[in-house]
Amino acid sequence: MLADLHCHSLRSDGQLSPSDLVDRAAEQGVTMLALTDHDTLNGIDEARAQAVKHDMTIISGIEFSSVWNGVGIHIVGLGFDEHHPVMQQAVERQEQCRYERAKTIAVKLEKQGVEGIWDKACEIANGAQIGRPHFAQALIEMEKVSNMAQAFKKYLGAGKAGDVKTMWPEMSEVVGWIRESGGVAVIAHPDKYKMTVTKLKLLIKAFTEAGGNGLEVTTGGMESSFSKRMAQLCDEFDLLGSQGSDFHGPRPWSELGKFVPMPKSVTPVWSQWQ
Ligand code: AMP
Ligand code: MN
Ligand code: MN
Ligand code: MN
Repeated sequence: MLADLHCHSLRSDGQLSPSDLVDRAAEQGVTMLALTDHDTLNGIDEARAQAVKHDMTIISGIEFSSVWNGVGIHIVGLGFDEHHPVMQQAVERQEQCRYERAKTIAVKLEKQGVEGIWDKACEIANGAQIGRPHFAQALIEMEKVSNMAQAFKKYLGAGKAGDVKTMWPEMSEVVGWIRESGGVAVIAHPDKYKMTVTKLKLLIKAFTEAGGNGLEVTTGGMESSFSKRMAQLCDEFDLLGSQGSDFHGPRPWSELGKFVPMPKSVTPVWSQWQ
């Protein structure tokens, strides 16, 4: 059994269609998959239909954008009822939020002298949930930067003009949506927030008080020492452990089903579904 409970398709900022993603996951030996596109459920039906060909279990998934204490925090929802009215409304709201935010990002980048960025970014998103990676690609194609890393460093990363996070809902609200629609709420990639363990514990405390019950203990690129610390936090805060590659497309450092193994002490999130 191999679970990958965090990955993206071209319905948000990933590169593969949901079907191609499922095929690739099967090739990598993944037997349980959650497609967790940013703020949308649009790819899940296609993933589910394709998974039948591989005898793969699809768990409903989403990666919600939120804010806690001024920091952008990603919350993965797993195993919820996709048709629950709370979830339906939440996704509608987030889709709207993404669109409005994208317009704000475009205005800010135009002010930095990047004319025509809105049309270019929309063309690249091509109907997907628009996000900063689409703006990054637009900046590359408009020859403002030469690669993704530079696009984030100069225009889109923390503290830059295109880093608009104030429009996202509070983390506690997002956790509520997932729990009310019957799912497990999971803090995504805790290694990505550049927090001290003390700050991370404050985050987890607020998260559990809001009803949050899971933590990504291992994700693509996470160090094994960090993963062990996350296992300890699962024990301390009575959290279920989740794992996922956060795959966005084939890269030398990222693959479906690839991350350091989850420490044995952790109660895996899938124990809920078996
Ligand atoms: P958004 O959801 O619009 O805020 O965009 C965030 C997404 O951008 C993340 O999910 C990553 O896929 C991608 N991302 C964030 N930081 C970087 C970076 N420094 N370089 C490349 N991609 C990044
Ligand atoms: Mn992404
Ligand atoms: Mn994320
Ligand atoms: Mn992700």
